[in-house]
Amino acid sequence: AVFSSLAEKLQETFKKLKNKGKLTEADVGEAMREVRVALLEADVSFKVVKEFIGKVKERAVGQEVLESLTPGQQVIKIVHEELTALMGSSQSKIVVSSKPPTVLMLVGLQGAGKTTSGGKLANYLKKQGRQPLLVAGDIYRPAAVKQLQVLGEQLGIPVFSLGTQVSPVEIARQALDHAVARGYDMVIIDTAGRLHINEELMGELKNIKATVKPHEILLVVDAMTGQDAVNVAEAFNHELGIDGVILTKLDGDTRGGAALSVKSVTGRPIKFAGMGEKLDALEPFYPDRMASRILGMGDVLTLIEKAQANFDTQKAKEMEEKLRKAEFTLEDFLDQLQQFKKMGSFQDLLGMIPGMGGNKKLKDLQVDEKEFVRMEAMIQSMTPQERRHPEIINGSRKQRIATGSGTRVQDINKLLKQFLETKKMLKQFGGSAMMKKGKKGKL
Ligand code: GDP
Repeated sequence: AVFSSLAEKLQETFKKLKNKGKLTEADVGEAMREVRVALLEADVSFKVVKEFIGKVKERAVGQEVLESLTPGQQVIKIVHEELTALMGSSQSKIVVSSKPPTVLMLVGLQGAGKTTSGGKLANYLKKQGRQPLLVAGDIYRPAAVKQLQVLGEQLGIPVFSLGTQVSPVEIARQALDHAVARGYDMVIIDTAGRLHINEELMGELKNIKATVKPHEILLVVDAMTGQDAVNVAEAFNHELGIDGVILTKLDGDTRGGAALSVKSVTGRPIKFAGMGEKLDALEPFYPDRMASRILGMGDVLTLIEKAQANFDTQKAKEMEEKLRKAEFTLEDFLDQLQQFKKMGSFQDLLGMIPGMGGNKKLKDLQVDEKEFVRMEAMIQSMTPQERRHPEIINGSRKQRIATGSGTRVQDINKLLKQFLETKKMLKQFGGSAMMKKGKKGKL
C-alpha cells in the first residue's frame, strides 16, 4: 500500500524515541538522520527533505520538547505537523464558480490516468449533487473518445463529443454552450496527452485555456513515476499554469515521494488522489490525514467516511447501541466484517486504523476471501451462547469449534484476538463518531 515502506521506517524510528524517557539533542539528531534517509528512499526530492529536516530539528531540540514529560511524543507531533504543512496544510477543494458551469480542464501526459480520473471526478461530483458534463477533448489517442463514452455510460453521466475531426478548442467551446443550454453545472474537459511534454501539446492546451477560460486546470500525474511526476508538475505549472494536481495510482506500490514533494516544489496542492482502477477510487486529498497514515496514527476520518458511504444506516444504529451497551458480539463482528468487505481491500483499511498501518504482522495477514470464509465458518461453529459471550470459550470449546469448522485451535485464538481488538478499537473511536453523518457539500 501507499507509503508502507516509509511508514514502517518512520514508525521504527519513533518507537525508539518513545521508549526513551528523556531525550537529548543527540537522540533527536539520530532520529532525524533516520527520517532523512527514509524520506530520500521514498523518493522525496533532496531539497524538500533538507528543508523538512531543518524545520523539524529546529523545533524538536527546543527546551520545551526535550524537557517535557513525553519528549518522544512531542517530536512525533512536530513531524506530523510538518508533514501536514509539507503537503499543503489543509484540504484544497475545487472552487465552485458562483456563475455555473464551473469548468475544469484536465491535463497530463499519456497514461497518467487523465481519462479515468475525469470519469472518477464526474462520478464524485455527481454524488455531491452536481450535474457534471464530460467533454471528450482528446481527439488524438484513437480510443480516448470511446473510452470516455464508455465511462460516461457506466456512470450515467453525459459525454459531449464531436468525434475526432473537430479541433479540441472548438469542441470545448461548443461543450460550454451545450452545458449552459442544458443546465450542467460542472464541465470536465478531457484533453490530449503526449508521451512527453512538448511545444505542440502546450500550444494546444494554451489555446483551449484561452478559449474556455477554465476555472481550474487540474494536472493528472502518476504517483508511480516518483520524482518525474514532480518534474512534470513543475513544467506544466510553468508553461500553462495549473491550479491543482490529481495524483493517481497511490494505491500501487509507490514509494510516495511525489505526494510529499508536489506542493512544496510547485506551490500547487494535490486536490485528489486516485486509489485504484475502480470508478469510485478517487479521494479528496487531506494532508493531515495522509500524514497520520504515514506515521501510523491511522486515518480514522477517512475510515469513518468510507463507513458512512457503505454502511447500512439501520445496522449502524444497532451497532452503535450494542457498543454503547458493550454487547458487541462475535455475531456482530461477522456482520462488521461483511460490511467492511464492501468498503475496499482489507490492506487499505488496516492502514487507516491507528497503530495498524506499520504493523508487520498485520501486513502479512492477508484477509482474503478464503480467510473470510474461514472466519465465517468458525463463528458459525460456535453456539449462540459462545458468540455472545466469547469469554466462555475455553480449551475444549476451542477444540470443538476448530473441528466443527475445519480449522485449528490457533485459528480460533487468532479470531478471538481480532475480535477483541476490533471491539476495543470500535470503542476507542466511539461507535457514535463512526455512525454520525459527516458534513455534506464539500467537493
Ligand atoms: P490517460 O492516457 O492519462 O487518459 O490514462 P487512462 O485514464 O487511460 O489511464 C491509464 C491506466 O491507468 C488505465 O489502465 C487506468 O485504469 C489506470 N489508472 C488510472 N488511475 C489509476 C489509479 O488511481 N490507480 C490505479 N491502480 N490505476 C489507475
